[in-house]
Amino acid sequence: MNTLIEHLAEACSTHRVREKWLVAPSLRVGHQWLDQVALAGTPVVNARVLTVRSLALQVIGARLAKEGLAVASPAARRLAVAAAWQDVMRDDGYLGKARRTPGLLALAEATILDLKLAGVGPTGIKTGDFEQRLKAHELTALLGAYQAELDRRGLIDNADAARLATAELAGNGAAGREIVLLRPGDIRLTAVEQALLDAVAGENAVTLAVDEPGGDDSGTDLPVRFVHAAGEANEVRGVLRSCLGEELALDTVEVLYTASEPYVSLIYETAQRVFEPDASLDLGIPVTFAGGVPARLSRPGRLLAAWHEWIHDGFPQSGLLRMLQAGLLRSPADDEGHAVATAGLARTLRRTGIGFGRDRYRQCLQEHIDSIERPGSHLQSARALAGFVKTLISVSPEPSASAAVAVTAAKALLVDHARVADTLDGLAVQRLGQELDAMTEALDGGTADPPGFDVWQWLEELPERITIGGSGPRPGYLHAAPLRGGGHSGRTNTFVLGLDDGRFPSAGRQDPLLLDVERRQVATSLRTSDVELHEQLEQFDRLLAGLRGRLTLSFSSRNIDDDRETFAGPVLLAAWRRVSGERDGDHAALMKQLDPAISFAPRDADRCLDSGEWWLYQAAREPRVENLPELAEAAFDHLARGAVAGAARASDAFTVYDGLVDEPGPELDPCTPRGPVMSATSGLQAIGKCPLAYFYARVLKIELPQDLDVNPDEWLDAMQFGTLLHEVLFRFVERLITDDTWPPEPERDLPVMAAIVESLADDARRRNPPPNEDAYRRRRRRLDRSAEIFVNEQARRAGPGRPVYLEASIGLPTEQRGTDIDAPDPVEVALPGGSTIRARARIDRIDRVDDGGTHKHPTFVIYDYKSSSKTEPYDPPDLFDQGRLVQHVLYMAVAGAVLADRFGPDTVVDGFRFMFPGVRTHGREVAFGRDVIEPGLEVIRTLCTLPATGVFLATDDPDDCRYCSYRAACQAVQRDLRELCEASKRKIDNPANTALKPFVELRRDG
Ligand code: SF4
Repeated sequence: MNTLIEHLAEACSTHRVREKWLVAPSLRVGHQWLDQVALAGTPVVNARVLTVRSLALQVIGARLAKEGLAVASPAARRLAVAAAWQDVMRDDGYLGKARRTPGLLALAEATILDLKLAGVGPTGIKTGDFEQRLKAHELTALLGAYQAELDRRGLIDNADAARLATAELAGNGAAGREIVLLRPGDIRLTAVEQALLDAVAGENAVTLAVDEPGGDDSGTDLPVRFVHAAGEANEVRGVLRSCLGEELALDTVEVLYTASEPYVSLIYETAQRVFEPDASLDLGIPVTFAGGVPARLSRPGRLLAAWHEWIHDGFPQSGLLRMLQAGLLRSPADDEGHAVATAGLARTLRRTGIGFGRDRYRQCLQEHIDSIERPGSHLQSARALAGFVKTLISVSPEPSASAAVAVTAAKALLVDHARVADTLDGLAVQRLGQELDAMTEALDGGTADPPGFDVWQWLEELPERITIGGSGPRPGYLHAAPLRGGGHSGRTNTFVLGLDDGRFPSAGRQDPLLLDVERRQVATSLRTSDVELHEQLEQFDRLLAGLRGRLTLSFSSRNIDDDRETFAGPVLLAAWRRVSGERDGDHAALMKQLDPAISFAPRDADRCLDSGEWWLYQAAREPRVENLPELAEAAFDHLARGAVAGAARASDAFTVYDGLVDEPGPELDPCTPRGPVMSATSGLQAIGKCPLAYFYARVLKIELPQDLDVNPDEWLDAMQFGTLLHEVLFRFVERLITDDTWPPEPERDLPVMAAIVESLADDARRRNPPPNEDAYRRRRRRLDRSAEIFVNEQARRAGPGRPVYLEASIGLPTEQRGTDIDAPDPVEVALPGGSTIRARARIDRIDRVDDGGTHKHPTFVIYDYKSSSKTEPYDPPDLFDQGRLVQHVLYMAVAGAVLADRFGPDTVVDGFRFMFPGVRTHGREVAFGRDVIEPGLEVIRTLCTLPATGVFLATDDPDDCRYCSYRAACQAVQRDLRELCEASKRKIDNPANTALKPFVELRRDG
């Protein structure tokens, strides 16, 4: 029992039945004191805990009711400050020229309250006390305007409450002879509060003695242990491991932290999560938090933050998807009243091309519903999603909405849509709801926004600022409290976390609105930054003096985010010097004496919090466990399998772990009727680039989830832009064919092209709204320029040929208007050696070039438009880029077959041209003659051998990985893709890997 509790017990004993008012820094702390008295055996009768504020309200309660006054909520105070600032500050003033931000208003509110609690009113500020007389005038006016605003609203603040109560007591005499006022000797009071306590009980006030640092009975000499940890997370683990290893009952332990963040979150999350693989063993560790935990740790708090971001990012589809996937939204009901799983809604949402924009949801979801042909679960889910989104959108205003609308909408979001899965969620809805109600009341139904008040920023900060679930110490629970205001539980094991030099004591910061030098002039009772700093140290000493039992002081000696050393703070160093007797000891001397840092791997088997820590302990312990890998593999099947795969991949042999399918069926062989139909880019060239990527895409059919994130700087991704450009070129060439005006003439046709671009860009814009006008203009400029280049270059290069087929679809459904060579079935292409493949192609343009009479037979040239800004990949020195480029060969072969059917066996496909209308490539063409067909078909035959024989090795060139969709899959195996490619190279170079011979041919012959 410490001195304060002893004296409190004595007072309770002396004044056993008289009414006692115990003044405490908080109701929770006061009750902890009384609990300790009662637990020590002294009856506690007729005692009430009061804070200065609640005491004042107790005294003036009747007057407030009579005069229709109320205590201002934090929301109302903030609005009153905003109104006062707006009222008195001028843009050319001293303080007035500062930009009005929510942070500035928070500072102003704190300064005003400081002044009022120090007993300083508008007349108490003298211009002579300030170097800047204008500033003094402004502060005087601000104080007066704030008070006037409170009066107008019929409100009082805490300073007013204390002042009114003091006046009330002066008028009516002390609270009463019967009441004994008990006040601890070290309670911190402002001038106004001090006056109230002096007035309240006259001679019946009892000051309770407290432990003085260095005093005879103080806890200064209590056993102290000093520890350090690798990061704050391990400081927290260190506490829990001590409880386990030293068999400390949780309700004998109090953890004090110097900073709410990150310690509250870390204590909460570590205590919640015991890493047992068996969920039934996952009991968690019960903890009470004196200050509660931030609402952002709850689902409703996270929903409020995500909703705010969703609205301010322009309602992106990806934002709604994230809310659904994180389980933040309550499941809606289907037509029959059954809850629809949010995972199903998320899947359906992925299939809709909403992109972003509040107004697009309804239309796109309806289009999606209309596109579903058959009734069934998909249709049901789409309808449920549409209904759900409709209600969510109805409570989601635009960012320009008024403060009153935004706050009402936020409340509706929490009440109607927030998922409540546990007690914390329930508390969050309640507490956040109270704050929102208080703001609604403070806004008083106004349609115009309060000047200087940013409601969206206020909403954004709410989940972080509001804490929930605060509780006093409870039996069976570990108790966590902030250092300032903690240490009152009377528990015998105290851990203080966060005593590094960056955290405690926190640097005293001057109030920028009322500097220290001005504060000293205005009133001696106004607190200054150096007094704040001094008090932090003094309070820490008092805290230690008041503790009993065992004390552990802890600091983080490493920042694990950036692997930087951090250092013990001055109070820990001073305490260590005192305890160790090393009066001049420095940080290095301290570190020499301390045990190694607490880390993720415990040092003792009996301190492991879960099985994961136990394995880490075994991995790090001395002496080493020689056969640990084998033991781990015996315990965990997947590790054993992973070890076998790892060894195989590390070897030079080509194995099933490297992409070898040891029994490939005919369905993998493109040369069999059951085999895959081959296209150029996603089939043959994909194999040539990386057989493993082809395996993922075409054999396992793994598709990357569609990326729904909107790039704020880009309208249309590369593929969408390419499609739009193709459409523009198609329309233009089609128009000239129809009008029989090919080749183009710039003077005549540039306006035609411009009109086509305008119309198609408008359509694209409707389908995919740009994130902003700048992004649209950038893309549009590129489109305009490319279209212009196309017209000019086609005019310049005009020869005897003219386009006859546009977007010919062979082996594919017809697109655009179709051509008379379109065929839904694939075409057979004969390969050297007698085999055939079935192939398909969509050909941008086929020109007939024999009209001039130089060709005896029907003769054609194929064009393929490329929006790429580089021509090199389409013009490789080896013609086929080691199998990565066979489009020219395949298209000539496929077109040759269908054109021969149409025009007779003498038909000739004489060439193939890649055409680049881009700004950088400026209409360049890369041309190939028909002489590439024969060697090209040989390359295609080799490519087809790879899937047919089950060879799906990763590429040996990291350049192939640059834009690959499967990077994440490969990186799960080998973080550095260059090493993965190196391993492929080794396997290719090993002559024993005969299965890789075709791949070797491609890469070596190229
Ligand atoms: S990341 Fe590289 S190795 Fe992996 S599949 Fe893609 S291209 Fe192949």
